[in-house]
Amino acid sequence: MNPCGTCNSLTDNYGRTVKSLRMSITNRCNFDCIYCHNEGDHGSLSEMSVETISNIVDVASGMGVNRVKISGGEPLIRNDLEDIVASLPELKDVSLTTNASMLKGRAQSLKECGLDRVNVSLDSLDPDTYRSITNCNANAFERVLDGIHEAVDSGLNPVKLNMVLLKDINEVGMDSMLEFTRQYNGNVILQLIELMDFKDVAQYRVNADEVERKLLSEASNVTVRQMHHRKKYIINGAEVEFVRPVDNTEFCANCNRLRVTADGKLKPCLLSNDDLVDVSNASLDELPSLLKLAVSKRVPFHRTE
Ligand code: SAM
Ligand code: SF4
Repeated sequence: MNPCGTCNSLTDNYGRTVKSLRMSITNRCNFDCIYCHNEGDHGSLSEMSVETISNIVDVASGMGVNRVKISGGEPLIRNDLEDIVASLPELKDVSLTTNASMLKGRAQSLKECGLDRVNVSLDSLDPDTYRSITNCNANAFERVLDGIHEAVDSGLNPVKLNMVLLKDINEVGMDSMLEFTRQYNGNVILQLIELMDFKDVAQYRVNADEVERKLLSEASNVTVRQMHHRKKYIINGAEVEFVRPVDNTEFCANCNRLRVTADGKLKPCLLSNDDLVDVSNASLDELPSLLKLAVSKRVPFHRTE
């Protein structure tokens, strides 16, 4: 039973209060990254309407959620992404995770519709390596770089570059990625991500402790973020975060995020596809209890006991 059964906040049985929604708005994508987990894609092709998305966020925001991250699949594949962003209530933070191949020409309008910032997946600055990871078409790499420039120019701040570390593939590119972020004078942050093995990609796993030691040895300053207790390093003026979801009890203990699948199911845990709660046809009256039900099903995937 939810310890907060009678009040209106979304606190789970482990004392974690949900403050953030990660909404997948499509499972479709124009890339085929070798490691992609597709946000728990379970084969459905149906996608939530603008109204369904805005209703879920509206109700959740009345229950304490103040951040929304829009993701996918590739969210820019939806032509109504601007409508989705514009339909959201006033929140502390609205962000988008994208491969940015279709961001050029839309960054400014997304900003005007209420988007605060973007995370762009950029696993390598070497076009051949980039293509071998993402299986994208020939012009995509240049378009991604253009999209990043335009996002910065449009004031989508900060732009975070998501780089999934892959052994023997892109590890060596970490320093040039740091150099790349420095060009943007603090408007671009590098976010290194530990590979999660959803697709038999264990051979590409890097030693995360070694990465952490390298960052620590080069950093002039280290702080800890509230979200998942991620560490933030400053290295010669470049800001770097390291996201470590694998076997990490701290990651789970400090998770305040609920996921929503593209077909409208609340997903209590990133690392598990159990306990989905269907809200695709829920009315505004039904949504509060369904949100509470999903939150009551949240169990830390990695625990100390
Ligand atoms: N298509 C968009 C993109 O690539 O940014 C949004 C969806 S993608 C699933 C969201 C993020 O998940 C990306 O930054 C991607 O690198 C990351 N991701 C996907 N599969 C992963 C895995 N197996 N391990 C770690 N991160 C992963
Ligand atoms: Fe997955 Fe994003 Fe790559 Fe598409 S671009 S395959 S959704 S990580």
